[in-house]
Amino acid sequence: RDNLKKRKIAVLGSRSVGKSSMILQFIENHFMESYYPTIESTFVKTVNYKGTEYDCEVIDTAGQDEYSLLGPKHAIGIHGYVLVYSVTSRKSFDMIQIVYDKLIDFCGVTDIPCVIVGSKTDLSSSRQVDPSEGERLAQTNKAAWVETSAKANVNVGEVFQLCLAEIEKRAPSSQPE
Ligand code: GDP
Repeated sequence: RDNLKKRKIAVLGSRSVGKSSMILQFIENHFMESYYPTIESTFVKTVNYKGTEYDCEVIDTAGQDEYSLLGPKHAIGIHGYVLVYSVTSRKSFDMIQIVYDKLIDFCGVTDIPCVIVGSKTDLSSSRQVDPSEGERLAQTNKAAWVETSAKANVNVGEVFQLCLAEIEKRAPSSQPE
């Protein structure tokens, strides 16, 4: 694993949008109904993207809501970001632009490698955010966008493929190995 390209990906978003569930589905291929508030933790998985193996370090963050500021540790050494809202929560959707703007500010750049994720699509009767709104938000911020369900295992792998694509698109050869 020493010769693999390392990519650090931070997963952010409001509380209980399904960040941990998405990461658990990605890393261990299962879903848990129970809810444990996250303490920040890191997971590692080797991912093949366009024929190259990447050593992905996925950081599950805790408590990114309007009451807690993003720390600079979320802007240093991170290659890409996954910003998660739940399609069942308008409030969590509104948080995405706020978190995005904070990241831009911390990183001191105009845009960052980023995937915006609308989670919990299996809860279709509780939907509060249309796909078109997510798409538009992503376009405005030059980010990728996808809707997922960790429970039904829909598009979870796609999130990390898109994130690697955004990272490589911006700095195909200048990223640290
Ligand atoms: P986090 O705080 O963002 O890490 O959110 P969690 O992963 O802990 O999930 C919060 C709650 O939403 C838990 O009860 C999960 O079981 C539930 N949940 C997460 N993802 C999904 C999903 O795709 N579908 C459904 N129906 N529930 C989900």
